Amino acid sequence: MKKGETIDKLLYGGYSTLSLGYAGLYECVKAMTGRSHTEDGGKEFALDVMRYMNDKCKQWKAAENIDYSLYGTPIESTTYKFAKCLQKRFGVIEGITDKGYITNSYHVHVTEKIDAFDKLNFEAEFQLLSPGGAISYIETANLTNNVEAVLAVIQYIYEHIMYAELNTKSDFCQECGYDGEIQIVENEDGKLIWECPNCGNRNKSKMNIARRTCGYIGTNDWNQGRTQEIKERYVHLGGD
Ligand SMILES: [Zn+2]
Repeated sequence: MKKGETIDKLLYGGYSTLSLGYAGLYECVKAMTGRSHTEDGGKEFALDVMRYMNDKCKQWKAAENIDYSLYGTPIESTTYKFAKCLQKRFGVIEGITDKGYITNSYHVHVTEKIDAFDKLNFEAEFQLLSPGGAISYIETANLTNNVEAVLAVIQYIYEHIMYAELNTKSDFCQECGYDGEIQIVENEDGKLIWECPNCGNRNKSKMNIARRTCGYIGTNDWNQGRTQEIKERYVHLGGD
C-alpha cells in the first residue's frame, strides 16, 4: 500500500475479517430454557443460537462481500458493565442476572462443577461454531508435583479441541514471600479485595497476581465484576 492510502477496499473479498462478538451464552440459555447449556434441552438450544449467529454472518457476507465471523469474546472488564445493564433491563433474576459478571462466550458457567475432560469435550463442540476466535480453559490446582496430570490434559486437548489452556495460580506476596494463591476476600465495605493468606497483606502494590481472563494472562487488577467471577471459579482438576 502507498503511504496515506485508505484501507476500506481491503475489508472486502475475504481479505479481512469483521467479528461479531457474543458473550453470555450460558445466561441466555438459562433464561430461555431454565437449564444450563450443559444439560439436555439446554444444549440443543445453545447450539441453535450459535448456528443462527453463524448463519447471520454468512448472510451478511453474501450481501456485502465482507467476511463476517462469529467471535467468542472474553469481554474482559465489559463483563461487569453488561451484567449491570442486564440487571437494569430485566431486574435481578436468580442464577442469571444476580452476579456482577456474565459468562464468557460459550463457556460453561464458572461455578458449575464439571470435570476438566468433560468441560473440554463439551466446549469443543461450541468452539467449532465460533470460527472468528475462541479459547477454552480449565482451572487447575497447583500441579507442580503432578506432571502426569498435566500431560494427560495436554494430550486430551490435542485430540479433542482446537484451542485450550490450563489456568493455575502463581501469585507472590512481596511482604512475606508467600508464593501460593492470594485470596479474594470481602472487606468492611463489602468490596472484593485481594489478601495474602499467610500475612494478611492487602496492599495491591506489594503483591503479584496473575489470572487468565482471556487468551492472555492479566497481572493488573480487575473490576469488581471480573473479580467476583475469578473468586467463584470452580477448580476442574486437582481441586477437592
Ligand atoms: Zn504475605
